[in-house]
Amino acid sequence: MGLEIVLATHNQHKVDEFQKILGERMPGLTVLAYDGPEPVEDGTSFEENAFIKARAAAAHTGRIALADDSGIAVDVMGGSPGIFSARWAGPGRGAQANLDLLLAQLGDIRDPHRTGHFHCTIALVVPEAAGGPHEYAAVGLWPGRIALEESGAHGFGYDPIFMPEGFEVSAAELAPEVKNSHSHRARAFAALIPELERISAAR
Ligand code: IMP
Repeated sequence: MGLEIVLATHNQHKVDEFQKILGERMPGLTVLAYDGPEPVEDGTSFEENAFIKARAAAAHTGRIALADDSGIAVDVMGGSPGIFSARWAGPGRGAQANLDLLLAQLGDIRDPHRTGHFHCTIALVVPEAAGGPHEYAAVGLWPGRIALEESGAHGFGYDPIFMPEGFEVSAAELAPEVKNSHSHRARAFAALIPELERISAAR
């Protein structure tokens, strides 16, 4: 029988993305949407917040649960925006305001001091009801630097001002399939898949 896992998000696009990426590598795997209560994300790191979400979904459903948490970390800012990436310019202000604020904050900082990375943690929680307890964190980092101005129309969030290492264009100028094979999320999936394969093989 295939593996069924619940993804701790109410966002159907994320469920589809996880199903596509994980399903390609593990044909028997089904990613289910989670429709239970959402916990307060009061952790102080990507890992903590990912585990808060995954543990809540695992406890509520009794199924193996995954949750991701991601953001951008700028070295000269001590790792900020970090876990505050989605609401850096204030709750509800949106991606353009976040990006504009970050560029303004880095206004006087010149290369080579504009380095940073995208971070993605995917937390995996196997509750007792599903053969656990067992937990695993898959982490992916995508190093690069913050551009002086935005460019490109693909992607989302901070992509227009992120220049990935090894490229002379922003993440928003990369073809989506190129971004999808290099990104922090791709790297976290690469770390997650062997763990899911181990769990699947042990059943
Ligand atoms: P979340 O993990 O969906 O909460 O995303 C957190 C925030 O990090 C997003 O709202 C974006 O601002 C930023 N972020 C995460 N991944 C990316 C990415 O691949 N490109 C651009 N921004 C990202």
